[in-house]
Parts: sequence; structure tokens; C-alpha cells
Amino acid sequence: MAALALGNQGLLSTGPMGTPLDGKKAAVELLARVTASTAHFKQKHGRAPGLSVVLVGEDPASVVYTRNKEKRAREVGLDGKLYRLPASTSCDELLTLLDRLNHDATVDGILVQLPLPASIDTERVLDAIDPAKDVDGFHPINVGLLNSGRPSLVPCTPRGCMLLLERTGVQVAGAHAVVVGRSSIVGKPVAQLLLAAHATVTIAHSRTRDLADVCRTADILVAAVGKAEMIRGDWVKAGAVVLDVGINRIADGTLVGDVAYAEALTRAQWITPVPGGVGAMTIACLLENTILAAEARIR
Ligand code: NDP
Repeated sequence: MAALALGNQGLLSTGPMGTPLDGKKAAVELLARVTASTAHFKQKHGRAPGLSVVLVGEDPASVVYTRNKEKRAREVGLDGKLYRLPASTSCDELLTLLDRLNHDATVDGILVQLPLPASIDTERVLDAIDPAKDVDGFHPINVGLLNSGRPSLVPCTPRGCMLLLERTGVQVAGAHAVVVGRSSIVGKPVAQLLLAAHATVTIAHSRTRDLADVCRTADILVAAVGKAEMIRGDWVKAGAVVLDVGINRIADGTLVGDVAYAEALTRAQWITPVPGGVGAMTIACLLENTILAAEARIR
């Protein structure tokens, strides 16, 4: 298929129109690479890289997420441990556990599942994680390194977006990327990564005027809003790549993204489905971060 013109800025390459970008397949491939790296690490250093996942309270979604993280960690050969603490845990008790994990040489990655109960100061907790073990990439030092374009542990969902984008073969340098959403866990870091890849980046949010028109200028459109199907098909530029980070459960119980998928599929060149797109990559990127952290610590 002929390359599509990207204004006068570059070229979008390959792929027929309306191709779903398969996050499940990409995740399986990434997990295979992590499994191989873990086995290599084990052989070289006589232990598996360790990932400690900390859950405070009983939030049902968080219980499922943390179990999956521990289970997947073990499947790829990591030493995954889940610490389940009661909702009544004080901030100081949590900080004591983090201090212990920070000083445990067999622990390479630490993740505190969010959201924390309202009684706990989330910033204080995230700041207390050793930046070298911060596999979520939320510590201010890692945020600063990312913003300075220096090597760092990168937040998992934004990293997953970039890996999926890479698979399309589109030329990111010079492309106009619009990121809708400016949260610290998705919008801002994905914008930084796109900037580091030399895209021209616009960050849109709830106060952005004429959002539909802004989206229509995007060669790469990232939706990280948390509003079911808010971005309509006619907001998508013909031939664009659409990365839909949103996960929204609608009235009939099904999961949908922030983008009206069926509509957008007729205009986008590539688009991630929900489920099975960006979300499928997040845990795989967490496990990749754990092996990266382990290798960096031992160097
Ligand atoms: P937040 O609620 O933290 O941020 C949402 C962002 O969307 C904010 O910046 C907000 O703007 C913006 N926004 C809200 N309404 C509008 C609007 N009408 N027009 C334009 N912008 C708007 O969400 P997260 O970043 O944490 O998550 C976003 C979505 O991604 C959610 O659906 C979440 O479930 C999903 N998610 C998926 C993950 C995965 O693994 N795939 C991981 C993490 C999140 P403002 O700043 O002005 O308020």
C-alpha cells in the first residue's frame, strides 16, 4: 500500500486503512522477551529479579489488578510477591514496609497499587519508593529524568503506547501528535515520550477549546480521558494512528474506550481496540521495567 502524505511534515507508512493494532499479540511477544531476559539474569546472578506489589485495602478492581501482576510476574520467571495490607493501615506503617523493601537487595521493583485509601498521603508514599526500584515510573526523580530526555523507568501504559506505535512503522518524527488527557500517569508521560521521539505534541484537556478540531489535526491521536466513546469518528484525521487508552464500563457491562471504535476504524489507518489494545500492554511493560531495574541495579 502506498504511503500516506502527512501534510508537508513526513510520511505515514504501510498498513491498510482501518487496521486494528493488536495489543494482545504485542504483549505476548514482549512477555517472551522478558522471560528470556529473566532466565538470562537468573543464570548470571543466581537469583530471579524480584517484584513486590503492595495493595492496601480491598478495592475489588485493585485486588484483581494486583493478583494479575503477581501471577504474570511468576509466569515470566520473576520473583513476584504480593503484600496485602488492611485498609486500616497507617501511612507510617506503609512507609515502614517500603523502607524494608527499598533495603532488600533481592527486591528490584516496587509497585504500590493506586488508588490508596483516602487516609494515606499518596504523594508521600510514592516519594518514599527508591527511584531505582520505581517500576511504575511515578517517583519525581523518574518524572524529571523523563522530562529531561534522560534514561529512566518510564510509566507502563505510556511505554505500551510507544511500543504499539513502533509496530505500525509510522514515522513519528515530524508527525503531529495530539494527546487528550494530562494526567501524571498517562497523558503527560506519553506526551513526553512522543516529544522524545521528535513528534510535534499538543496536549489537550478538559479546558481545551474546539477539541474536535484539535483532534482532527492529529497524525497520532492518543485518547486518555476516561469518558466512554467521547472521541467520535469524524474527529479522526484520515490515515491517523489512534491509541485509545481509555477503559470505560458502560451500562450493559461491556468495556469501551474513549474513542467510538467502529466510527474511527473507517478513518484511522491504525487503531487500538478496547479491550485488547493498550491495556493488554500495561502489565507486560511493568515486567519489562522490573528486569530493566534489576539489570541497572546490578551494573
Ligand atoms: P484522569 O482522570 O487522571 O485524567 C483524565 C484527563 O482527561 C484529564 O487530564 C482531564 O482534563 C481530561 N478530560 C476529562 N474530560 C475531558 C473532556 N471532556 N475533554 C477533554 N479532556 C478531558 O485519568 P487517567 O489519565 O488516569 O486515565 C484515563 C483513562 O485511561 C481512563 O479511562 C483510565 O481507566 C484509563 N487507563 C488505562 C490504563 C491501561 O492500562 N490501559 C492505565 C491507566 C488509565 P483535566 O486535567 O483538565 O481535568
